[in-house]
Amino acid sequence: MTTFKIAVFDGDGIGPEIMQPTVELLKHATANQKKFDLSFTSLPAGAAHYEQSGESLPAESVRAARDCDAILLSAMGLPHIRKPDGTEMVPQIDLRFELGLFAGVRPVFTFPRGPRVLSDERAATLDFVLVRESIEGLFAHKDEGVVVDNEYATETLRITREVSKKLFDFSFKLAQQRAKRLNRPGKLMCVDKANVFRSFWFFREIFNECAADYPDIEPSAMYVDAVAMKMVQSPWDFDVMVTENMFGDILSDLGAGLMGSLGLAPSADIGLDHAVFQPCHGSAPDIAGKGLANPSAMVLSAAMMLEYLGDNNQCPAAATCGENLRDAVMQATGMEKGKGRDIGGTAGTDDIASTIQSCLGA
Ligand code: NAD
Repeated sequence: MTTFKIAVFDGDGIGPEIMQPTVELLKHATANQKKFDLSFTSLPAGAAHYEQSGESLPAESVRAARDCDAILLSAMGLPHIRKPDGTEMVPQIDLRFELGLFAGVRPVFTFPRGPRVLSDERAATLDFVLVRESIEGLFAHKDEGVVVDNEYATETLRITREVSKKLFDFSFKLAQQRAKRLNRPGKLMCVDKANVFRSFWFFREIFNECAADYPDIEPSAMYVDAVAMKMVQSPWDFDVMVTENMFGDILSDLGAGLMGSLGLAPSADIGLDHAVFQPCHGSAPDIAGKGLANPSAMVLSAAMMLEYLGDNNQCPAAATCGENLRDAVMQATGMEKGKGRDIGGTAGTDDIASTIQSCLGA
């Protein structure tokens, strides 16, 4: 039997509250098969850890995470814990840089009997993916921004051929996988601001070069401002989109809004050798400790992790367990006891987790 080693970062705020039921659900979802098992290692990091120890992402935690097959991370950061320059600790972003996780995969989909944000009936079955470049762009020099004489401030945006090529290859392959699974022609859209910035024209040129290697996928490009409008007016037209780090950061929250709540939006940060699975949301300090957090986004991210482990290790049983876990969350979200306050229901964290578990058992 294969054992997959999973690094677990409980994180800050609601992090531990959503991680604990997620690990329990992973154990439940993988219990009735004999092909693989999961071993979990809890690792310290986060803003609260910084307050105690002076380190937000200990080197030993990174080393241990590197040694695992996949990494689960809830959310990190607390607005009242800041560095001397006024910015927050962002160990969840530092980890992407440490492990070379260039592709932030943010699926956007709607749930049967789940929240409906747009009234158009075509919005009832949304299904597209945003790939956010995650180790450069406007985040490349995130610790090096300067404020000069209290008069002006500058930040630097960096696009490299090396990372862009890896990002586009990953995105074209994702478009191919979706085309096969959904039995329809595949599409990939480059989202940029190539009308104004030289760096984004460079990004687009590399995209066009890569497109030539994937003749089965229809390439296109659109400016980010137009994409923001179309994500509200006609999001059903999208398939796979790929974009720069900051644009992806913003558009993925818009995507979570289309799903009905940040509490439902999963994500994965994927590199060539490592992958982190975490919800799109943050540590939600306003509801931490109250039992109100919706664990669904965290559980859906764990389901993505099982599918990743299955696909990357020729272990179809893991992928099947991931699909079952995702289906259970989809089903639970349509039930009264699985509907959190963030989507107009009354269920708390424990209610939602036990509803997902009962859907898994059915
Ligand atoms: P947030 O995502 O934590 O919260 C935004 C709103 O969504 C809040 O009203 C919150 O209560 C709600 N919300 C978020 N997750 C929810 C869930 N699972 N269930 C129910 N409601 C949920 O964003 P913020 O308030 O801007 O940031 C809070 C902290 O999190 C900050 O310190 C920020 O830096 C950090 N942060 C971390 C990550 C990450 O770890 N990936 C991402 C974003 C923000």
